[in-house]
Amino acid sequence: MYDRTLETLPAERLRAHQWSRLRALLDEVAGANPFWTTRWRAAGLDTACDLRDWKDFARLPLTTKAELVADQAAHPPFGTDLTYPLERYVRVHQTSGTSGTPLRWLETQASWEWWARCWGFVLAGAGVRPDDRVFFPFSFGLFIGFWAGFEGAQALGALAIPGGGQDSPTRLAAMESLGATVLVCTPSYALHLLQIARERGIDAARLPVRVTVHAGEPGAGIPAVRARIEEGWGARAFDHAGMTEMGAYGYECQAQAGLHVNESEFIAEVIDPGTGAASREGELVLTNLGRLGSPLIRYRTGDRVRLADGLCACGRTFVRLEGGILGRLDDMLIVRGVNVFPSAIEAVVRRFPVEEFRIEVFREGELDEVRLLLEVEGGEGGARRVQEALRATLGIRLEVAPVDAGSLPRFELKARRVVRR
Ligand SMILES: [Zn+2]
Repeated sequence: MYDRTLETLPAERLRAHQWSRLRALLDEVAGANPFWTTRWRAAGLDTACDLRDWKDFARLPLTTKAELVADQAAHPPFGTDLTYPLERYVRVHQTSGTSGTPLRWLETQASWEWWARCWGFVLAGAGVRPDDRVFFPFSFGLFIGFWAGFEGAQALGALAIPGGGQDSPTRLAAMESLGATVLVCTPSYALHLLQIARERGIDAARLPVRVTVHAGEPGAGIPAVRARIEEGWGARAFDHAGMTEMGAYGYECQAQAGLHVNESEFIAEVIDPGTGAASREGELVLTNLGRLGSPLIRYRTGDRVRLADGLCACGRTFVRLEGGILGRLDDMLIVRGVNVFPSAIEAVVRRFPVEEFRIEVFREGELDEVRLLLEVEGGEGGARRVQEALRATLGIRLEVAPVDAGSLPRFELKARRVVRR
C-alpha cells in the first residue's frame, strides 16, 4: 500500500531505506538472474556482499535500452532479465513500440502489486481520494500504458472505470453518466477529447472532472499545454512519468514545482550523457527497487532532466526534476546551431489556437532543417504569428506552414509529432 510517511523521510534515513532495499534486491538477483549476473561478474561483483557502499554502486555498469532490445532478440521472447523460473510470472506487457522494436516485460504477482503501490504515490500526489471516480480512456491491450494506473486507483480505494474498446464520443458519454471526477490519459488525448466535446456541443468544463493526470509525453509539464487542458476540463492537470521497463517513478504534488522522483522505490541519478559523471542537468539514470523478478539497475532512461534546488513546499523530501522531463536526448534538434527540444517548440505552439501540429526534420549535412506544419486558426496569418513567437522565445527561425484542419494524425497513445525525412 502507498505509504505517505516515506515521502517525508529526512535525507539520511531515505538513503538508508534505499540501501536496505538495494541490498535485498541484489541478494535476490545476483546468481539467479542471468542478465545481471553476467554484467556484474564482469564488473567484479559476485554477491550482494561485494557491494559495500554507494561508491561501489556508482561503479556498477550503466545499462541502455539497446542492450535490453539486443538481449530479447538473442533470447526471445522475454530475454534473460528474469530472476525466477517463467512459471512465477503472471502478466506480460510491452512498450508502445513508437521508437522501434517493442520490449516485453514479465511481472510476478509481487511486482504487479509494486506497480500499483507506485501509482498510489502518483494519484495521491495529484489529490485523488477514495471517493473519486477515475476514468481511463485507454485500450487495455499489450501496451502497459495505464494498466497499472487502473490497479493503483483501486488500491487507493477509488472507483476505477475502464474506458477501453470505445470511441471518443462514447467515452465522453460514459464519463458523464458515471460521474468521472478524474481523467488519466496522455496530454494529447485530453486535448483531443476536448475537441470532440466541442464538436458535439458539450462543455467539458461542466463535467465533474476535477483532476487530470497525464503521462506518455512531456505535455502536462509544458505550461501552455497544461493551461489548455485545465481550462478545457475545468480541472487541475498533473504530470506523471513512467516507463514500461522501469515503472511509474515520477509525479507531481499539489505545489507542482517539478516532478518528484519516488525515491522510496527508485534510486535516481543524473549524469552527463557524454562522460557519465554526476551532474545537476543531463540524462536521468534510474534503479527500481521493488521489481525483483525483472529489475533495472542503473538504467539510462534517455530522458534529459534538471535537478531542482531546495526542498519542496509540500514537505516531500524526494528530489524534483525541474520542468519535468525536458525531452528525449535522441529527439534533440540542432537548428542553425541552437539546441532545441521538440517540447520547447510545443511550449510556444500551444499558446496559439493550434489543434494539431507536426515537426518535420530534414537533415542537410550536419544541420537540421525544420519545418513546422500547423492546423491553426487564421491560416497564413496564424502561422506567421507562431513563427514570430518562436523567433522571439527560442531565437530560431523555422519554416512554418498552415495545413487543413483535421489533416494531421491524432494520437491516443504516445504522440509522434517529430517526423524525420
Ligand atoms: Zn512537492
